[in-house]
Amino acid sequence: MIQFERLHKSYQVGERTVSALQPLDLTIQRGEVFGIIGHSGAGKSTLIRLINRLEEPSGGRLVIDGQDVTALDSDGLRALRRRIGMIFQHFNLLSSRTVAGNVAFPLELAGTPADAVQARVAALLETVGLAAHADKYPAQLSGGQKQRVGIARALATDPQILLCDEATSALDPQTTASVLSLLSRINRELGLTIVLITHEMDVIRRVCDRVAVLDAGELVETGPVTEVFLHPGHPTTRRFVSESEHVDEGELHRDFAAVGGRIVRLTFLGGDTYEPLLGRIARTTGVDYNILSGRIDRIKDTPYGQLIVSLVGGDLEAAQAAFIAAGVHVEELRR
Ligand code: ADP
Repeated sequence: MIQFERLHKSYQVGERTVSALQPLDLTIQRGEVFGIIGHSGAGKSTLIRLINRLEEPSGGRLVIDGQDVTALDSDGLRALRRRIGMIFQHFNLLSSRTVAGNVAFPLELAGTPADAVQARVAALLETVGLAAHADKYPAQLSGGQKQRVGIARALATDPQILLCDEATSALDPQTTASVLSLLSRINRELGLTIVLITHEMDVIRRVCDRVAVLDAGELVETGPVTEVFLHPGHPTTRRFVSESEHVDEGELHRDFAAVGGRIVRLTFLGGDTYEPLLGRIARTTGVDYNILSGRIDRIKDTPYGQLIVSLVGGDLEAAQAAFIAAGVHVEELRR
């Protein structure tokens, strides 16, 4: 659906050229929720704004749905932007217009007849759960409600792609969860391709199918969220994951010094998460185990468990082989 081919961007600041995005190759599939994570200044906003050409690329090609959008003229660009909705961290609502008026705005710009606008706005407000608030003004709404207006407005022209620019960063955790589940539902029910940027791994974990990690303008890791989240390769990715799990790696390794045996990280994914494997394998191999840290959660719809255990006595090699044979990923942290 969206293909970046050596796309790059630099800014001219006085005499200096600042590179915001190194030449980047990336393909985003139709119908997926694709997350881009990075720290402040990593190039996330630049990347997402290149998709609807709010930023002009310095070079390379961007192909959307088979069309080279880097070559579009202004008419082509207007047509492109009707196919791409966008929501923002600070909502960007018009304060002098009601909720219904904000959602109607892009339809009015597109020259939609008034009765069609009214019907479409009513349906959109129903979708985002704001039917009862149509006549309120933005100042009378909570942050979560404002973002729902933003989502309804972004969907008004029936786009194929929705861009989310730190859409939940200004919201509290509970509101974040409800906005993210609305985005998931829209993705599922409308088949919309969603591209979101965030600095929070938790946002990626809850809604994204695949993720790209940006570090200082460079794409350092990309893949399915289950892969990148559970087996991060790049130090930046590892930092995001340990921050989101509130794990202090240094503290954990100090704890290891106090326990004996072999220390392994066991990762269970999907149905295996709920199997009583640990006890069964301990019994059959005579290995004792001690759980040092653990987490059972979900990545989008997939349950996973990750345990750090020390294994003592018995047949350690047989125990490890049994875990692997049962589909558990085993990483030795200390032999
Ligand atoms: P992020 O969204 O990840 O915080 P940005 O895409 O905003 O990162 O910025 C990436 C880099 O490009 C930063 O070093 C930033 O200072 C620089 N940059 C962004 N916009 C401009 C601009 N209009 N002029 C000059 N430099 C910019």
